Amino acid sequence: MSKKKKETTEIDETDILISKGKNDKVVPVKLTKDSRFKFRCHPKVRCFTACCSNVNIALPPYDLLRLRRRLGLTADEFIKQYGDIQVLDKTLLPVVTLRMRDDEKKSCPFVTPEGCTVYEDRPNICRYYPVGMATLRKLDAQGGKDEFYFMTKEDHCKGFEEDHQWTIGEWRADQGADLYDEMNRGWMEILIKKKSHGQGKEFPEIKNEMFFKMSFDLDYFRAFVFNSTFLEIYDIPADRLERIQGDDMELLKLSFEWIRQAMFAEETLKFKEGVLEKRKERSDTTMRKVYGNKPKTQIGDID
Ligand code: SF4
Ligand code: SF4
Repeated sequence: MSKKKKETTEIDETDILISKGKNDKVVPVKLTKDSRFKFRCHPKVRCFTACCSNVNIALPPYDLLRLRRRLGLTADEFIKQYGDIQVLDKTLLPVVTLRMRDDEKKSCPFVTPEGCTVYEDRPNICRYYPVGMATLRKLDAQGGKDEFYFMTKEDHCKGFEEDHQWTIGEWRADQGADLYDEMNRGWMEILIKKKSHGQGKEFPEIKNEMFFKMSFDLDYFRAFVFNSTFLEIYDIPADRLERIQGDDMELLKLSFEWIRQAMFAEETLKFKEGVLEKRKERSDTTMRKVYGNKPKTQIGDID
């Protein structure tokens, strides 16, 4: 392979972002929003709810928020009753997955013979199925990525025998997946960034805890914004502040921006005038108290 080709086309690896089915049942064909497939799922299919057990369902922040609001639970209560905390191999960040019941089939806690009891607020993975989404990260100089779809064909799923044609785009719109993708996008970017930032490098425990709490407990983040010095530190335009006060979706987006700043020191939020100078002054005073007038180059030397 020529060097040029290697730089521009070789791919690093695929990240499966959304998939409810088993990875060994993935049809190895890259699909786009315009790709067509024949499928229909409804309560009269022979396999109704067959896909609702023994599945790994990740719950990004918006999915968890929708479910817990529907059930009238706080984030902590929801995670205790329905969640498992998993540390993702590739990012070493803690995330929440839906805990299956402890029955023979390992059924989803929300499935009944009549179907899904949280249907309107079901997780995005359930909306996508049997479609999945992935990214290919390229090894080019720009670090580009390619987002695409794929199909999961599991033996138990008889929906492929039904006579209804969709494009992937039509399927997503019908299932309401667009809103979920939009709401979780900022958070997915944090995971991807953490992975590329230093794969395998673990953050200090306190940073992981902050990521987890701020990602999954919007009430906690709201209190942080409105009951701490947050608004004295960050310059949030008045119209945005008004939207944040009245709309949880706006608040969630703000939380992702704040996490990026706290985790990667990205300038996602603007500081108010004078804040950085004051911080530096405070830090200099502390350093002086600890190290006296020792030159910076000697700090860390053992006397
Ligand atoms: S949340 Fe609903 S659709 Fe998803 S696996 Fe559970 S029962 Fe099935
Ligand atoms: S297995 Fe397929 S067709 Fe059957 S209920 Fe699940 S998605 Fe629908």
